[in-house]
Amino acid sequence: MNSFHGLEPRYVELRERAGVLAAECAQHAERADERDSVDPEVRALLAASGLAAIQVPAAYGGTFERPDALAGTIVRERLAMESGHLDSLFAMQGIGSYAISAGGSEEIRREWLPKVASMEAIAALALTEPEVGSDLKALSTTIVPDGGELVVSGHKSFITNGGDADYYCVLGQENTAGGGHSLVLVPADAPGVSTTRPHQIVAPHVLADIAFDGVRVPEGNRLGAPGEGFALVLATLATFRVSVAGAALGTAQAALDDALAHTTTREQFGGPLARLGPVPQMLAMSWTEIEMARAFTYQAARAAAADPAGSLHLSSMAKVGATEVAGRVVDRAVQVMGRFGLVRGTRIERLYRAARPMRVYEGATEVLLDALSRRLTKSVRTGEGGS
Ligand SMILES: Cc1cc2nc3c(=O)[nH]c(=O)nc-3n(C[C@H](O)[C@H](O)[C@H](O)COP(=O)(O)OP(=O)(O)OC[C@H]3O[C@@H](n4cnc5c(N)ncnc54)[C@H](O)[C@@H]3O)c2cc1C
Repeated sequence: MNSFHGLEPRYVELRERAGVLAAECAQHAERADERDSVDPEVRALLAASGLAAIQVPAAYGGTFERPDALAGTIVRERLAMESGHLDSLFAMQGIGSYAISAGGSEEIRREWLPKVASMEAIAALALTEPEVGSDLKALSTTIVPDGGELVVSGHKSFITNGGDADYYCVLGQENTAGGGHSLVLVPADAPGVSTTRPHQIVAPHVLADIAFDGVRVPEGNRLGAPGEGFALVLATLATFRVSVAGAALGTAQAALDDALAHTTTREQFGGPLARLGPVPQMLAMSWTEIEMARAFTYQAARAAAADPAGSLHLSSMAKVGATEVAGRVVDRAVQVMGRFGLVRGTRIERLYRAARPMRVYEGATEVLLDALSRRLTKSVRTGEGGS
């Protein structure tokens, strides 16, 4: 990794700490990355590292005044090089708690955020439903105020940390005069919450479907004002979407490292693979794409740290760019490693699978490009610059 990105010492220090944690988790990675529930040893190592605290505001046990997009991106880049499970566990402590940081009552913040920072509590954000993915406005979960309580009913699907989380930030249709969508915090042990694990994906993940069967929580568990659920979800994405680009960069870098190690040491036709036919070009193109994606991702993350809402388009570009680069890089890496790139249980095989879901979750590539193109064409119509 080059030093020309000009990271301030606090970010360099965070990257070093993330490197130490990644190295500690290396011996658990193959096992953890096959699990559908949280790996206790990886969780304990993440807790001991103190790194989850960067996902929470300093006033509630966190590191920065508010969760810092560049810090999260840099840490995810380093963790994803070693283990998708570790990266996801770290990422969700922010993605699953930001609505509390931004919209929770003082009491709710004090109750949950210090536990999220210390990994005592595992966080989750429940938006997706069996019939609703990208088109979240069509969701059918309901939140109904009733006698000082909120009654939550519905079914959420593909929820990261589902089954192991201590609470769920649930997006639902609010049954108030103004209607709209709201977010509410539902403790995982509330009566009426049940989880199943009907799906598993190409790169195993802690995923569950969650049924909310008339779950009653205090009105104080509401996050943000009634009808402001989407604003909080957007605020979450504005801070955390760019960190997916960080994870994609780490995945791509590790794949290139493995491809380099293999092709410079294995000889065919009297010389190293790295000198044969198109292999050198494939390696150099991967390097080029990674460096370009990294430079832009850090720039977008810096912008998101300073002005999250104002730079969501940059975060989306970074997410699209870096995840698509990761897809190409892992594919080339497997190709130049031949049969050794295909062996189950090797790091390159895990990286190849880990790269794929990144282009779908937290805004599929096409959904983000659609939003970006609308902004771009609008800027032409209004005569403003696209950036
Ligand atoms: C590993 C993993 C973890 C996840 N964790 C969570 C979680 O913690 N919480 C949660 O709520 N959800 C989670 N999800 C769900 C995830 O957010 C959805 O998969 C995502 O929103 C896409 O929805 P979908 O899969 O239903 O695809 P669909 O919405 O059915 O879209 C399918 C495809 O159609 C195209 N498409 C859709 N809409 C448009 C559009 N407007 N313009 C152009 N093309 C479009 C895209 O190519 C897209 O990939 C997770 C998913 C995965 C794979």
